[in-house]
Amino acid sequence: MSSAPIGSLPWHRPTRAVVDLDAIAYNVQSLRTAAGGAAVCAVVKADAYGHGAVAVARAAIAGGADWLAVALVEEGVALRRAGLLDVPILVLSQPPAGSAVDVVANDLVPTVYSVAAVQELAAAVATTDRPCAVHLKVDTGMHRVGAAPVDSVLVARAVHEAGLGLGGTFTHLAVADELDNPYTGEQLARFDDVLDALRADGIDPGLVHAANSAGTIAHPAARHDMVRVGISLYGLRPDATLDTDAFGCPLQPVLRLESRVSWVKTLPAAARVSYGLRYRLEQESVLATVPIGYADGVPRRLSSVGGSVLIAGRRCPIAGRITMDQLLVDCGPPGSSAAADVAVGDEVVLLGSQGSETIGAWEWATALDTIAYEITCGISARVPRIHVGGEHGG
Ligand SMILES: *Cc1c(COP(=O)(O)O)cnc(C)c1O
Repeated sequence: MSSAPIGSLPWHRPTRAVVDLDAIAYNVQSLRTAAGGAAVCAVVKADAYGHGAVAVARAAIAGGADWLAVALVEEGVALRRAGLLDVPILVLSQPPAGSAVDVVANDLVPTVYSVAAVQELAAAVATTDRPCAVHLKVDTGMHRVGAAPVDSVLVARAVHEAGLGLGGTFTHLAVADELDNPYTGEQLARFDDVLDALRADGIDPGLVHAANSAGTIAHPAARHDMVRVGISLYGLRPDATLDTDAFGCPLQPVLRLESRVSWVKTLPAAARVSYGLRYRLEQESVLATVPIGYADGVPRRLSSVGGSVLIAGRRCPIAGRITMDQLLVDCGPPGSSAAADVAVGDEVVLLGSQGSETIGAWEWATALDTIAYEITCGISARVPRIHVGGEHGG
């Protein structure tokens, strides 16, 4: 699938993010095995971490995912409108006031943690005449959103009193990617206490879930009835140092960010390039221009932390400041292996493999002191997502 920017005008610029839907399906299977019998919820919020929510959702379901999860009501509605009608879609936070009618009308599964939200949903159910089962979110220590453990029974009772179903009860782990951190065990113990309190009150907690990717892969006690996997679905480790293979959960890379050389020139020693003229050539060198920049999601700071790209199977440093739409690459002195025959139209890989070289999102993230999540989410809407493989690929 390839979307067009203006009507039927094709994407003329050769910059694209190629998303491998077969790898999504592979990763779902791998995570399903790792989750040991728990249901798999594919987290496709933020346009599937920048990979294209509709295509990824379809591929994840085809690969065996049982649920989808999104951050926003709007994201859930978009999936329904794209024709994903039969799969349950969990909205991971409590819907904002005023959105209950859209939640119910689109058959989304809302998260709740306040009595007021429960009552607004009940009112929407009354007007639309559709059922609604909610999931109760318990704050066991992340302290982002959720009902305090002491309030959880109260909110669950309100769900029943309002005539809604309690379809599930869940929590979210703050440090599951830090394997030896005892806090995860403390959160899970607090969660167990809440589940006990609900049951003691005669309330069935429904589908119980706590694990994100790191929880799924590295914390068996977190798996419960369902796991909510995001980053690992995209073939990326939850932490740069978490060896998913060692945990029996091999993952395949999904996204490849690529472009093509748009301009080539040879410049003399001591020439300086790009804004600010901060990059000075030590020797006569071949410079290639690539039509991708910070407006596409290549962080401007990447050039000052040793960022490189792959051309002709070789790593070449980004030269000088990354600009909004373009960046420069130092291919070395004329006649050198990387520079010898660099030409306009040559493939450039920013994220992914070429020959025996690979640059992953974690390489950028580590250099930039961030996480791979931010890198893929940061690839902007200007970059077309080209989905290959899968039922609907090609
Ligand atoms: C984003 C999110 C997830 C997925 O986390 P990953 O680390 O990407 O697997 C799971 N649960 C909640 C509540 C989330 O917000």
